[in-house]
Amino acid sequence: MYTYQKVKDQALAPNVRYILSIGNHREIMEALADFCRMKSITAGEITGIGAISEATFRFLDPATKQYVDKTFEEQMEIANLTGNISVKDEAPYLHVHLTCSRRDYTCVGGHLLKARVNGACELFVTDFSLTHAGRKFDPETGLNLYEF
Ligand code: FE
Repeated sequence: MYTYQKVKDQALAPNVRYILSIGNHREIMEALADFCRMKSITAGEITGIGAISEATFRFLDPATKQYVDKTFEEQMEIANLTGNISVKDEAPYLHVHLTCSRRDYTCVGGHLLKARVNGACELFVTDFSLTHAGRKFDPETGLNLYEF
């Protein structure tokens, strides 16, 4: 599903950073959740680049609190993937935004539900190892907000 290695940088301690390569044709969010579970990451950040063959985004309309999901099925570059790791209901909770560029160099992006690697997916994952960031549903916004 993925390969990884720890970044050998003592200045990061007690945080731990990983270089993570998600396997071709794997779904990114699933692989990331699996990695976070395996490493017991309870707070952290994710950045990355790569290439995908499809991506599904979710848009929340704040007025209606209705979700609108949209899938793009085409080859795209991950121009930027940015996200955070927290915990909800004792499971990894990933909040990831993705900007990807199309063949014509225009970009689409947003709140990522899932994306399938087609080529490479190269991420840095930083584990804020002594920190626990929780989440709780907030009825006012309809979002799972941080709970500290
Ligand atoms: Fe979001």
